[in-house]
Amino acid sequence: EENSNLTVGIRVRPLNTKELNDSKITSVIQVNDQNIIVTCDSVQHTFTYDHCFMSQMDASESGYANQEIVFKNMVLPLVQNAFEGYNVCLFAYGQTGSGKSYSMMGQESAQVNTISINEAVGIIPRFCQEIFTRTSTNMNTKTIVEISYFEIYNEKIHDLLTNVTNGIKRAPLKVREHPVFGPYIVDLSQHCVQNYKDLQTWLKVGNSQRATAATGMNEKSSRSHSIFSIILTQTQINNQLNSESMDASRRSKINLVDLAGSERLSQTCASGDRLKEGVSINKSLLTLGKVIASLAENTSNRKRGFVPYRESVLTWLLKESLGGNSRTAMLGTVSPANIHVEETLATLRYACQARAIVNRIRINEDPHD
Ligand code: ADP
Ligand code: MG
Repeated sequence: EENSNLTVGIRVRPLNTKELNDSKITSVIQVNDQNIIVTCDSVQHTFTYDHCFMSQMDASESGYANQEIVFKNMVLPLVQNAFEGYNVCLFAYGQTGSGKSYSMMGQESAQVNTISINEAVGIIPRFCQEIFTRTSTNMNTKTIVEISYFEIYNEKIHDLLTNVTNGIKRAPLKVREHPVFGPYIVDLSQHCVQNYKDLQTWLKVGNSQRATAATGMNEKSSRSHSIFSIILTQTQINNQLNSESMDASRRSKINLVDLAGSERLSQTCASGDRLKEGVSINKSLLTLGKVIASLAENTSNRKRGFVPYRESVLTWLLKESLGGNSRTAMLGTVSPANIHVEETLATLRYACQARAIVNRIRINEDPHD
């Protein structure tokens, strides 16, 4: 086992057209290497992270952190870790409209041709593309890529990759805890993908199920957490005639998480629980906050204090990713606008706390698989 700190990056989105046309709206954020400086009531707040990505200007200007730069600097090391056999988790945290989905999934219209990836494509498709590129060039290893995609809404789990038959609602799925492999979702569909085209087909299915639900229900996407999981299994192919020698296999679980808008958290803290919807959403985000706080505290005290993983579906499922056996990264997304400065400061403080967490990790190797 070895220690692994949570890696934290912050991405500042550009001001949108509406904000640019509003004379009362100004930018309050500057980025200087690993530091972010926020000016609020003429006080400067400075925060330091592993990565700071400035996307606050026009994409053609120099210094603009596009999807490729975010992927190369922050995500590519995680792909490498996954191939080494470590579990990997990346979650996007931030207020609604700050760029979580843009970063994780990218723009809907983004199409990939076989030669190069369109700039607007986000982390999830790039992650998969990178896996396929690597596996196609390694002939000594047999690799299996299995995906699943689900959302947590109101503390209930919904599979995004099973076909919905004409509006018939499926019963939500349940979490169980396996004595060795930990928490898992009963009956969650898993799909073997061979290439990028397969993957795109599944992403379309999953994203459209997210979107369909969103139009009916009060911007559901800002209230739900979506989790895209990949199981990467690599088996060494033994070319020698002596077939008695065992094939070694490595298996890593990759969780790519687009969290509900963090404003839910501060709103409920301020005004108390009103709607059931609000209560449950906050339960997962609130518990994530508690889990991060207690892990950060455990790390600084070198203690193993109680961590309330099982208080919410999200934290229960991400148990290994938070303080367990996983290389974990958090991408905090923020708006540069003065009107969002309170939420921005809340996200930056949250991200600082997460950076203090240390996971204990090991390679998942099974010689007898
Ligand atoms: P969230 O998922 O956090 O609610 P979105 O990812 O949907 O936010 O982003 C809100 C809007 O801002 C979208 O129209 C998106 O295309 C745009 N946007 C977000 N981040 C960026 C960025 N880095 N560059 C360009 N546009 C962005
Ligand atoms: Mg979103």
